Amino acid sequence: MRSIPFATIKEKVKEVCIETNYILGEDVIKSLQRALDQEESPLGREILNQLIENARIAREEKIPLCQDTGLAVVFVERGEEVFIDGGSLVDAINQGVRMGYEEGYLRKSVCHPFTRKNTGDNTPAIIHYDLAPGDRLTITFCAKGGGSENMSRATMLKPSDGLVGVEDFVVKRVWEAQANPCPPIIVGVGIGGTMERAAFLAKKSLLRKVCEESNDCGLAEMEKRLLKKINELGIGPAGLGGRTTALAVHIIMEPCHIASLPVAVNLNCHSSRHGEILL
Ligand code: SF4
Repeated sequence: MRSIPFATIKEKVKEVCIETNYILGEDVIKSLQRALDQEESPLGREILNQLIENARIAREEKIPLCQDTGLAVVFVERGEEVFIDGGSLVDAINQGVRMGYEEGYLRKSVCHPFTRKNTGDNTPAIIHYDLAPGDRLTITFCAKGGGSENMSRATMLKPSDGLVGVEDFVVKRVWEAQANPCPPIIVGVGIGGTMERAAFLAKKSLLRKVCEESNDCGLAEMEKRLLKKINELGIGPAGLGGRTTALAVHIIMEPCHIASLPVAVNLNCHSSRHGEILL
């Protein structure tokens, strides 16, 4: 077994919460720049320029990219030979999130669903676990904005709806969402599994770098086709019109039950924030 101290995990999670909220990934900035080069709408170009400038200011002045500093969504891949020394992994992650949101002056956005009373420290984090062979621990943190999360949907199509039905559902969802998810967006699509697995896959697909396409040729083609259809909707940056409604479409697919065709769309805003810890 390999031992990883509880305190190390807590500290690393704290750091990634702050860094991810201050520094937009190079892949997102490059895709915003590419979109700017291709955007024809003057208003759309203005918004894209502002987003690039906003990212520069946040990075240089060490301030959050957006007032919505997100719900902490954490993907864990824990090697079967990893032992956490000094406490549980769940506690280490939640304590790291608590410290990160406090020390980084990040907005606390978690509350009771009915009373709306804020938990006060942005916990509990949403934690997804996976076991892997070996002695490594990988923690991927994602600060997920509420506006884009609200516009996400899962559905159970009929098997006969097929590829056309899935593509129609994805494009319709983006059209119905309009400016609400803060475009330009990244469209995460999960196909297959069960209802909750499809939603998980859609969210997980958002962790991929914006410039990377699926390593499945068929899905890579589907991603390109969907991106084209979505950008032809004309919603544009901030919903003010233009050709840049989405920066990318990411799809993950798994087998499903013979009676089902689950599909989920998880939208992410231009403030697409995630960071990885490798221990
Ligand atoms: S959806 Fe994203 S860009 Fe829009 S307010 Fe929330 S975090 Fe900010």
